[in-house]
Amino acid sequence: MITFTDEQIMVRDMIRKLCREKIADRSREVDETKEYPWDLHQLFVDYGLFNLRVPERYGGAEMDYTSACIVVEEIARVDGACANTIAHHQAGMCAFMGGANEMQRDKYLPRVGRGDYLVGFALTEPNAGSDAFSLTTRARQDGDGFVIDGTKCFISNSGLTDLYVLFTTVNPAMRRDGVTAFLVDKDTPGLSIGKNENKMGLRASPTRQLVFENMRIPAENLLGQVGKGWELVLRSLTETRVLVGAMALGIAQGAMDAAVAYAREREQFGKPIAEFQGVSFMLADMAIKVECARALIYQIASSVDKGMRDQHYYASVAKCFASDMAMKVTTDAVQVMGGYGYTKEYPVEKMMRDAKATQIIEGTNQIQRIQIARNLLKRYG
Ligand SMILES: Cc1cc2nc3c(=O)[nH]c(=O)nc-3n(C[C@H](O)[C@H](O)[C@H](O)COP(=O)(O)OP(=O)(O)OC[C@H]3O[C@@H](n4cnc5c(N)ncnc54)[C@H](O)[C@@H]3O)c2cc1C
Repeated sequence: MITFTDEQIMVRDMIRKLCREKIADRSREVDETKEYPWDLHQLFVDYGLFNLRVPERYGGAEMDYTSACIVVEEIARVDGACANTIAHHQAGMCAFMGGANEMQRDKYLPRVGRGDYLVGFALTEPNAGSDAFSLTTRARQDGDGFVIDGTKCFISNSGLTDLYVLFTTVNPAMRRDGVTAFLVDKDTPGLSIGKNENKMGLRASPTRQLVFENMRIPAENLLGQVGKGWELVLRSLTETRVLVGAMALGIAQGAMDAAVAYAREREQFGKPIAEFQGVSFMLADMAIKVECARALIYQIASSVDKGMRDQHYYASVAKCFASDMAMKVTTDAVQVMGGYGYTKEYPVEKMMRDAKATQIIEGTNQIQRIQIARNLLKRYG
């Protein structure tokens, strides 16, 4: 059992009510149309969900990490795509906060603090996914600024985003030591935004290519230092991996809610299917997995709130466990609901599709296992 503070419980209950009353019913429709739900976006703005972690002095809510996980979990319980929009904005924000100097903070944080200004995280390229050191989006120093050429892909919230944290290389041969981050305003000449990918899940969360052609960026938009961008990638991925874990947890909880309700109602052989051991054990296994993931995620989140800094290993463990768990729980929820679970009349097939993404985003689970194993072997070395 997790013990939340009174404030965290208040946040949870407020978001849970919002989800139940305004988001749950829209989830199926926005999945089908693949349209970004601007009405829900406005609710997120009104509830301050895009400035959760922004310091109060810039107008933000300055929430702790645990509360951010609570928000993402609760939203994912009814809609994975909306949770992804918020989690990926946090990914951009985290990189920003890691590298921004005073001038950049003063310029951008009041905008984010307003609550309607989104920040994106642009790392992945067509030929640089898991092998993120092999970036080819190139930044060349030119006079008092930089010129950038290249292509990013699968960038969440593209088209909604106001400011991109863009990871480039100043020299591909330098791999990690060439990675350099810039702040790119959405209206910068030379930036064009590609088509919205037709995805399996998280369909209402736009994922697009970004193309940079001869894009000039002033030196003041350099985020951090030349060659030090990887530190910002790592900082952001570490924080967002736990949020993606919370997202997976919410999706699994939503699927379990639906499966339990269905199993109590649906009768076969003259009794509710929940009374068959074969079904009730599946429900019990769902609960075991969901509770383990919840304990893990909030233990890490609360440690971070208490000052733990080196949470890379635990972030990988949490993201990997929670997303594999969500895949299993959502698949089993479809099974519990039989043919009806396989139709779009019920939410679990969508949850299964949404859960799949959590095994891929913020580094695939194979990459998480590589990180976990490396860390483990070092400890025993
Ligand atoms: C919905 C969605 C949203 C996303 N949002 C963003 C975003 O906002 N910003 C962003 O920068 N990126 C984003 N991404 C990109 C995402 O981070 C990448 O898709 C992911 O890192 C994997 O890269 P890839 O797709 O190129 O797969 P690849 O790296 O080509 O991997 C293909 C397969 O090979 C496996 N593999 C690769 N290397 C190894 C290895 N060494 N050992 C074992 N297995 C390996 C992988 O695990 C995977 O199964 C998003 C992706 C999706 C699907």
